[in-house]
Amino acid sequence: MSSNTLLLEIKLENTIEKKMSYYDQIEIEDMTFDVDTQLFTYPCPCGDRFQVYIDDLFNGEEVAVCPSCSLMIQVIFEKEDLQQYYDDADLQPPIEISAAA
Ligand SMILES: [Zn+2]
Repeated sequence: MSSNTLLLEIKLENTIEKKMSYYDQIEIEDMTFDVDTQLFTYPCPCGDRFQVYIDDLFNGEEVAVCPSCSLMIQVIFEKEDLQQYYDDADLQPPIEISAAA
C-alpha cells in the first residue's frame, strides 16, 4: 500500500519536472504553419510533431506540445510576427487585446 503511494509521488514529480523544462526552443519561422488546421508544427524526435494553435500563441501561449510523447518546446516569437500568418491564412486574430486605435 505504501509502495503504491511512493510510486504515485514519483510519477507526480516527473510530471511537474517535465512541465517546467522544455525540450528545445524553436523560432517561429522554423516551424510549419498549416492554414487549414491553423496549427504551427515542428518535428518531434519521437516521429510525431509538436503543435500549437496560432490563436493560442496570439493569446500568450508559447508552448507547443507533442501529443504522442508529451515533450514540449518553447516557441520564440513576437506577437507582431503572427499577423503575417493570419494574413497568409486569410484569418483574423481572435480578440483585439490592444486598445490602441
Ligand atoms: Zn513526440
